[in-house]
Amino acid sequence: MPEGHTLRRLADQLNATFSGQEVQTSSPQGRFAESAALLDGAQFVAAESAGKHLLVDFEGDQLLHVHLGLYGKFLIKRGASTPPVGQVRLRVESETAFADLRGPTACELWTPAEEAALLARLGPDPLREDADPTRAWERIRRSKAPIGALLMDQSVLAGVGNVYRAEILFRHNLHPLRPGQALRRAQFVAMWDDLVALMADGVRIGRIETVRAEHLDLVRARDRRSYVYRRQGEPCRLCGTEIRTDVLVGRNLFWCPRCQPAYRGRT
Ligand SMILES: [Zn+2]
Repeated sequence: MPEGHTLRRLADQLNATFSGQEVQTSSPQGRFAESAALLDGAQFVAAESAGKHLLVDFEGDQLLHVHLGLYGKFLIKRGASTPPVGQVRLRVESETAFADLRGPTACELWTPAEEAALLARLGPDPLREDADPTRAWERIRRSKAPIGALLMDQSVLAGVGNVYRAEILFRHNLHPLRPGQALRRAQFVAMWDDLVALMADGVRIGRIETVRAEHLDLVRARDRRSYVYRRQGEPCRLCGTEIRTDVLVGRNLFWCPRCQPAYRGRT
């Protein structure tokens, strides 16, 4: 599943390509045909991301909501449009470029109320300037749920997926099963600030890279992306202990049992 940086990068690229232009919209596949006809010929005002959601404002107070889900792709190509290939739900087209959306979980026109409801339902997104991390902290500090589950709960914190979860917990020496209420505020603040910086790096370079500069000489060039994600059974890059994995709420956790010691609550 794409994480928040992918959606932000997509919004930035759509803005660079279409913002301020009148665009043609169509649904070659047909499933979005009526709505695409409503947008056709309108100006593409601006795209933004909120967590794993993409929101695009069109002229006339029209709002497009897209969620890529597991398989969705929204690919931009320069140049004159070519005949659509495969199941293209939505095509956005200008004189100089076109973008094809395939396989999204959601592609729909929304009212401002629906957008407001989404933003109210989502936790703060480390990539958004309007994010209020206190909202996430208030949820985490009151919860008995493991921090590994809370980080993935989009109503607690928006945009973090499985890779950022695994890596941020390693970077802060936190065991994924530590209860939210056992975190100290300073630990949360450090983790939030780190997510803001790491996810902005992800937007800039187009992929997740989490190994700290001071550790880069410990790893081969192709291993520089992560400390623990999908490295179960391999030695920890810092201490050599075997990386562990387990399933939590249907997704795999990865952690180093030495760098991220198990939390033992006071009785
Ligand atoms: Zn370790």
